Amino acid sequence: MKVMKFGGTSVGSPERMKEVASLVTRTGEPTFVVLSAMSGTTNSLIEISDYLYKKNPEGANEVINNLEQKYSVHVDELFSTDEYKLKMKDFLSEEFNYLRSFTKDLFTSFEEKSIVAQGEVISTNMMASYLQEQGVKAVLLSALDFMRTDKNAEPDSMYIKEKLSAIMEENEGYQVYITQGFVCRNAYGEVDNLQRGGSDYTASLIGAALNAEEIQIWTDIDGMHNNDPRVVEKTEAVRQLNFEEASELAYFGAKILHPTCVQPAKYAGIPVRLKNTMAPDAEGTIINNVLAQKKIKAVAAKENITVVKVKSSRMLGSPGFLRKVFEIFESYQTSIDMVATSEVGLSMTIENSAHLDDIVDELKKYGTVTVEPSMCIVCVVGDLDWSNVGFEALAMNALKDIPVRMVSYGGSNYNISFLIKESDKKQALQSLSDVLFN
Ligand code: ASP
Ligand code: MG
Repeated sequence: MKVMKFGGTSVGSPERMKEVASLVTRTGEPTFVVLSAMSGTTNSLIEISDYLYKKNPEGANEVINNLEQKYSVHVDELFSTDEYKLKMKDFLSEEFNYLRSFTKDLFTSFEEKSIVAQGEVISTNMMASYLQEQGVKAVLLSALDFMRTDKNAEPDSMYIKEKLSAIMEENEGYQVYITQGFVCRNAYGEVDNLQRGGSDYTASLIGAALNAEEIQIWTDIDGMHNNDPRVVEKTEAVRQLNFEEASELAYFGAKILHPTCVQPAKYAGIPVRLKNTMAPDAEGTIINNVLAQKKIKAVAAKENITVVKVKSSRMLGSPGFLRKVFEIFESYQTSIDMVATSEVGLSMTIENSAHLDDIVDELKKYGTVTVEPSMCIVCVVGDLDWSNVGFEALAMNALKDIPVRMVSYGGSNYNISFLIKESDKKQALQSLSDVLFN
């Protein structure tokens, strides 16, 4: 069985929903479908909660009414028979009365979780009913019956596998199984969620639990490109990535899934395919355990990077120096991304510079501190095992006309990162593309 997950934009209108319905039925094989809420809905539900936290039921009701109106139009456009239109109107009025019921009582994060879950509840109900109206054998499974996190708020994969397997056995013979992304219960049985954007995580967990043949993540982009198409000419979609390569690229927002989301699929050895709803026949990008030997796959960049340098002769032969420096960043909840060390100096990059002044102030205890803002990390991802010769030289050579502030290599077998000035980004990316791919 394949798992197909569709994001908010992919189910963002009745027209898109019809497209999804045709995509999930076109092979005729049994398929497990995970849906996000229609785009914008989760945000509206959070807005409703926000009003309720602030004890403003009027504000909440206004958002609820607007949302209800929108959905009522969607239902008219999506369904063609009176029977289903009526059925869905009943469903919607129950849903929206449920949302209104929260405007009366005490409001806590517990209630908020129930509210934000409704976006996925509505989208999956609409899809299941639409498929049924079209004569497809489709069944809606409530994620609350099998998707659960443990006491550490991590998905409880044993429980999920056990529950879902039993549910699938009870529901044998359907062509399409539909469930809510994002929504789950916590260890105490309360309604909870897998954090914003968590539908991908749901798909990965379900794929692993069902030992699916493939997990497909459908969005509105054409898989992942080997360089940033907005900056560089002649980029190409990357056909295949190793899970490790995909994890390296995730930091760069390279339209790839968050590493924690893919983890269940990775451990279960299930390939994840990124597909485009707007171009369903394009192959997209497949992420799996295969490592294409001696191949560079992609280049990505991240701007708005600040580099902090600490120079100190006390660093030489002083165990614990790095820890003391790193602890300062930790105490300000600031992640360090790239690091380069020499015997008497240490350069680190950060993205979040909100606490920069405090950090610099404290670092002065340990050495002379310099700060350079407006930098950019450029990373080259692929099979960069140190025994493969030539790739470092090739990448370096592509940057021969550009001042390089830092280099990081050997942290993993899949990445070299360069720190350059933001203003050199375009030239660097283009030159790397020309040398590595074209
Ligand atoms: N609807 C949720 C969100 O907007 C989950 C998701 O789309 O993945 O964050
Ligand atoms: Mg989303």
